[in-house]
Amino acid sequence: MPRRNLDSLVTQVASELMGVDATTMVAASERVLASLVDYFDVEFAYLRHTEREQRQTVLIAEWPPRPYVPDPDPLRVIDFAEADSLFLASENAVEPIIVSRGDEYPDYQEMIRQSTGMPSMVTACVPLISRGVSTGALGFVRRGDRAWTTREVNVLKAIAALFAQLQARVEAEDRLRYIASHDDLTGLANRRALLEHMEERLAPGNAGPVATFFLDLDRLKALNDFLGHNAGDNFIRTLAARLRKNFAPEDMIARLGGDEFVIVPAETMDAVAAELEANRIQELVGRRVSVGQESVSRGVSVGVALGVPGETTVSDVLRRADHALLSAKSGGGNGIAVFTDAMRVQFELQDDVEVNLRTAVSDGSMVLHYQPEVDLRTGRIVALEALVRWQHPTRGLLPPGAFVAVAEATNLAGELGRWVIRSACSQFADWRRRGLAANVVIRINVSPVQLVSADFVERIEDILRLYGIDGSSVCLEITEHVVVQDLVRTRLTLRGLKRMGVQIAIDDFGTGYSSLSHLKALPVDAVKIDRGFVQRLGDSDDDLAIVKSIIGLAGSFGLGVVGEGVETPMAARTLVGLGCYRAQGFLIARPMPGEAVEAHLREGRIPLDLDLPRAGRGVASS
Ligand code: C2E
Ligand code: MG
Ligand code: MG
Repeated sequence: MPRRNLDSLVTQVASELMGVDATTMVAASERVLASLVDYFDVEFAYLRHTEREQRQTVLIAEWPPRPYVPDPDPLRVIDFAEADSLFLASENAVEPIIVSRGDEYPDYQEMIRQSTGMPSMVTACVPLISRGVSTGALGFVRRGDRAWTTREVNVLKAIAALFAQLQARVEAEDRLRYIASHDDLTGLANRRALLEHMEERLAPGNAGPVATFFLDLDRLKALNDFLGHNAGDNFIRTLAARLRKNFAPEDMIARLGGDEFVIVPAETMDAVAAELEANRIQELVGRRVSVGQESVSRGVSVGVALGVPGETTVSDVLRRADHALLSAKSGGGNGIAVFTDAMRVQFELQDDVEVNLRTAVSDGSMVLHYQPEVDLRTGRIVALEALVRWQHPTRGLLPPGAFVAVAEATNLAGELGRWVIRSACSQFADWRRRGLAANVVIRINVSPVQLVSADFVERIEDILRLYGIDGSSVCLEITEHVVVQDLVRTRLTLRGLKRMGVQIAIDDFGTGYSSLSHLKALPVDAVKIDRGFVQRLGDSDDDLAIVKSIIGLAGSFGLGVVGEGVETPMAARTLVGLGCYRAQGFLIARPMPGEAVEAHLREGRIPLDLDLPRAGRGVASS
């Protein structure tokens, strides 16, 4: 800044500081100090800010730079309580302090001498004033004597005011930035700050892999419900503070809301190291927390994913970590899972299914396989269960487990279900016309959504009429869950179906929560014992007891029973011994395409060599 008159000096400083923000504040202040040093012909100048709460004064800028700055720098942060007399006087000063002789404030003089090597200084210390209180100081130091004219002092006050304004603006900006990037409850970073941080970490050229830990507290809701929301909040705050304390300041810890946290350590780590770290996190979170009178602890599930800078996007890493978290939680909580290639395959499949399912349902990619159900005593085929598959263009034949849930979650269940019912009925009618399947029932699985759709009964009626099938040759299989969820609605639909003679079976029985008495209220014909119980018949006494009681209760309610998942002769013999004759399973036949099942239908039976005791044989009556 060229030498000018005093008034234009103020204007000059004002324009210099106008566009300044937090990032440019120090450099701009130094530029201004440099021109002031020059203008007032002093040895050096400094700008300090006051941290009122901590009672500290912090060096922001100085000019010229000191040739040697000790580390730590005794001038950077000074506690007022321990400061020399001049600094102490400046803490609350609202008027400039002018030291015009070298013998005032001797301790201050001594301090300056020690840190600058210059003896006997004169000083002008001009407070920065904001809302009537001192928020810092602008200081000028000069060797030998120097008198300050009133005009000069007034100009310095005006310049100090400009610095005070800048300080207030930067602090307000800082505060805004803080609010925008921090979680209210815990003071941890929020989602936005996390995304920004990850974006930087995953930029090309950065060190990797970048490990991301997705945390989800187990059963936090129970804590809120039983101890109150305040307790829940306190718990989360305490946990947040604990995490913060046990991680380095440069590690990112964010709370995404509720009981979800994400940690991205600054250190790079591979999968092995990340799993160890996940264990450490789990141990940390699992320690007890005092909430009011109670001492509580929560387990935490941790999903881990690694991102490679330049390759993986932020949303990929977060989705993977979230996916791993799901898998970690699936074990009932307090689990750890690192995103693996196997998960990736499943993940891609899920994406693919979501994208392509809609067209697949309408473009003929769906096929039905049929699994025979026999009377174990004679091998006679009593029913065929239609099981849907997706002939995927690149992934081969997909089982329903890979897409039925997706269909249900994406409003496609109705469309898929209609296709299944129409195709199964059409195929079944064709067999009937050709004299096959005369005494066989066609079993069709129905999604819960279908069952509660308003026109379900009419649609079935239309299809049966179209193909000339009597209702009693059709059995719809519904899951236990739907029965429990919407008993009233379900009952209405089932009654409508019953009027047409359509049979109803409860599938996978034993896995839901319905008691048989629940079912008594519904017009149900049979239950299919879940294959989980049947598979191990012969070596699990528990399962034997359950199967026995299901069969007994079904009998007393007059319901039929079918054993699913018969894989061993032992299981088949056990079922027969318990009086359950109808069964389905790999031992008897796997699900197969329509053409293959035709051969069995022609025979009418599937011979089984079960070596049954005499009493178990005889002619099927079911
Ligand atoms: P589900 O109705 O209980 O069907 C029986 C499942 O058990 C079939 O699996 C069958 O292949 C399998 N299975 C049969 N015998 C054995 C055995 O001995 N051992 C073992 N381990 N498994 C056996 P799939 O075809 O994968 O179907 C799975 C589930 O998908 C079905 O269970 C059913 O709930 C659902 N599903 C199948 N087709 C449809 C459909 O068209 N619509 C709806 N909504 N769901 C369907
Ligand atoms: Mg079924
Ligand atoms: Mg089943």
